[in-house]
Parts: sequence; structure tokens; C-alpha cells
Amino acid sequence: MKLQKEIAEEFERQATECFQKDFSKHKNYLLKVAFGQNSSIIPKQDFDDAITLYGSDQKAGISMLFDVLLPVIKKTMDVVYSRALKLFDKYDSGLLSVDDLGDGNIKVQSDSDPNASYKVNLNSLECDCPYFQKVKFAGMVCKHIYLANEIFSDGVRQKTSHNKPNFIPMPERLDTVITDAFFCYGSQKLSKRERRGNSNIPSGISYVL
Ligand SMILES: [Zn+2]
Repeated sequence: MKLQKEIAEEFERQATECFQKDFSKHKNYLLKVAFGQNSSIIPKQDFDDAITLYGSDQKAGISMLFDVLLPVIKKTMDVVYSRALKLFDKYDSGLLSVDDLGDGNIKVQSDSDPNASYKVNLNSLECDCPYFQKVKFAGMVCKHIYLANEIFSDGVRQKTSHNKPNFIPMPERLDTVITDAFFCYGSQKLSKRERRGNSNIPSGISYVL
């Protein structure tokens, strides 16, 4: 019987090998989930070349992916930002509540369900809404993060002003999130482990293919 640590190392090894050999799942995630229709503006050949390069030289591959993906990330984020501005108008009119919970945590009322709310953390730029769970692996943010940042940009509630947030959330983080993105496909298996408790996936593993 293998030791827990050995099994964990085996998972790590398999995951790393698979990541280096086969980028297709991650590519599919970026095109279908993260960017949707906007993915049509990605130069496909350059994208494929970057993925091929990643297989032999991770650093150079990531750098090329930045360049290839930046226009589509910016375009997608512009759409999200315009949604955030609509939320801001509702907030400004007193139709949407946004509350400071302290420590960078902001509670944002849901636009579609007034009884629901989402929690944004401005320090980590994370939100617990479903959209953020989908796009975070591409280093992108949701409208709640933009909105919370707009209102509490200096850590204090601002007067109504529509200054576009000056942070660009994603490219700086892409080199780290791009690896997480690939491994996110194991989330179903992991949730099974959480539910059943007797899975053979070691508890120390936070991702698996
Ligand atoms: Zn959100």
C-alpha cells in the first residue's frame, strides 16, 4: 500500500506531465467559458503557437500567451465593467445596497435577486458569485469586484463618481492562474472526495485531472 505522500506526489507528477503535454482543456476553457463570443478576435495561429511554445519553454509560452490573450481579456473586461457601471447607477439611486464588512470585505446585493448578496474581497480581488468562479482561472474579475472597488477605492466610501478603476486585474496574475485553470477541471472529482470522504484522492491534493 502506497503512502499518502507517494500517492500525492504521483498525482502531482501526472498533473504536471499532462499540463505540459496537452493544453487542449485549458484552451477550451479559455475559448468557451472565459471569453465566449469575444474569443473570435483571438488570432488562432498565434494562440496555437504560444501553446506549443509553452510545451517546451513555460516562461516564453506564458509571455506569448499574455500578448495573444490581452486584447480579448481587455474586451471581455470592458463588457463586465459596463455592467458594473449599471450597478453603480442602481447603487447611486439607492436601489442596490453595498456594505463594508471590514478587512476589505464588501457585501454587494445581487442585481437579479434582492434577497441574495455576494461577498467581495478587495485585497485579494475575489468574489463568491458564480461568474467569478467561472472566469477567475483566466485572471479576470466580475462586476461586483469592479463595483466594490469603485465605491471603496480608497478604503472609504467614495462620493458618487464614475472614475474607471485604474487597476488592470488580470495579466499580472495570468502566469499563476493559468496553471490553476488547467487543474480546475478536477473540481468535480474533488467535490466527490469532499462528499464521500473515502475517496482515494489524498486530502493534501487540491487539484487533480
Ligand atoms: Zn462577483
